Amino acid sequence: PPTRLAVGLGERGYDVLVGPGLLGRAGGLVAGLLPSRKVVVITDSAVGPLHLPALRDGLEAAGLSVLTEIAVPPGEGSKDLARLSDVLEAMLLAGLDRRTAVVALGGGVVGDLAGFAAAIAMRGVPFVQVPTTLLAQVDSSVGGKTGVNLKAGKNLAGAFHQPRIVLADTDTLATLPPRELRAGYAEVAKHGLLQGPLWDWCEAHGAAVVAGDTAALTHAVVESCRLKADVVAADEREESAEGGRALLNLGHTFGHAIEAEAGFDGSVLHGEAVAVGLGLAAALSARLGHCSQEWPSRVVAHLADCGLPARLADLPGRFTVDALLGRMAKDKKNRDGTMRFVLMRGAGECFTSADVPRAAVEGLLRDEG
Ligand code: NAD
Ligand code: ZN
Repeated sequence: PPTRLAVGLGERGYDVLVGPGLLGRAGGLVAGLLPSRKVVVITDSAVGPLHLPALRDGLEAAGLSVLTEIAVPPGEGSKDLARLSDVLEAMLLAGLDRRTAVVALGGGVVGDLAGFAAAIAMRGVPFVQVPTTLLAQVDSSVGGKTGVNLKAGKNLAGAFHQPRIVLADTDTLATLPPRELRAGYAEVAKHGLLQGPLWDWCEAHGAAVVAGDTAALTHAVVESCRLKADVVAADEREESAEGGRALLNLGHTFGHAIEAEAGFDGSVLHGEAVAVGLGLAAALSARLGHCSQEWPSRVVAHLADCGLPARLADLPGRFTVDALLGRMAKDKKNRDGTMRFVLMRGAGECFTSADVPRAAVEGLLRDEG
């Protein structure tokens, strides 16, 4: 039987189910949570041929009716306003009404796009997440953040729209390219660093996760979703600047700067940028005296063991200190030469600091770069 985790948000609360064979049982699992039997499914054209037949059968077996299946091109480029507009028009053309649910089958791109479409179609229709990447199963499908990218930057148009349920079918991960699996694992390692005991488990079993071992993958997804569910329930809309969802940005201040510099062309995946960001966050924490000098070596060694880049030098291309600092400065409200980072004293001891000296970040990047 699948593991069931609750995201405690009162009336908007929902369950995350993790386990094998969920696509084929999807209809029975969602029917009681939806106001009508009508659904539209949104996927991408790489995932559709692999997993849509099982999901369609699973939905129809319980008497649900799939009004249409919309497949967007795979990749970050589909998270834009033009594609959102096409998806909305196609849903309405197929007969979507206010009681029709939108089902997202795919990675974080499909989840964010379909979730945003569900948030704004007819001022909001029910939404179901069926994540098929490790990243989406451990991170993006839980928490209700949806949206698309603008020319001005990533995820700059969006809405909070919580799903009615998340079905994380671990069978779908069998078809995921190994590089995507490793990239998703970076977020598991991040959750480990935030949570503590999960980091020890990662050091022992991370290599099995990225090798595709079913039991290890399932444990990684379950424990990640448990942590994310708790954090989201405590701070649904990221209203706290210090605790709550803000801590999930561990490794992401550096990571987002790296990603933006690389240019979203697939040369550096989000998870790969985050892995380097985790290594840099550990190194910055040591530099500021919050942990021993051995700690960043341990973090970097584990990520490298799992086939992830963990230092700037591991990435293709050159990242200049000025370019990265410029990106991070844009990201932050820097008062008096200080920056906000999530730092760590060790696994399970992460905290936000708003007064990291810019000079310390600059020094770190110069030494690392
Ligand atoms: P993705 O959705 O682009 O998927 C990666 C690739 O894997 C795609 O080419 C896709 O077609 C393919 N794929 C997906 N599932 C597959 C499967 N089972 N078998 C074979 N191929 C498969 O990328 P992602 O890493 O899942 O998500 C990245 C996106 O998630 C970014 O846009 C990011 O901003 C967003 N995100 C959102 C949140 C949130 O809270 N909403 C959190 C983290 C990331
Ligand atoms: Zn991330």
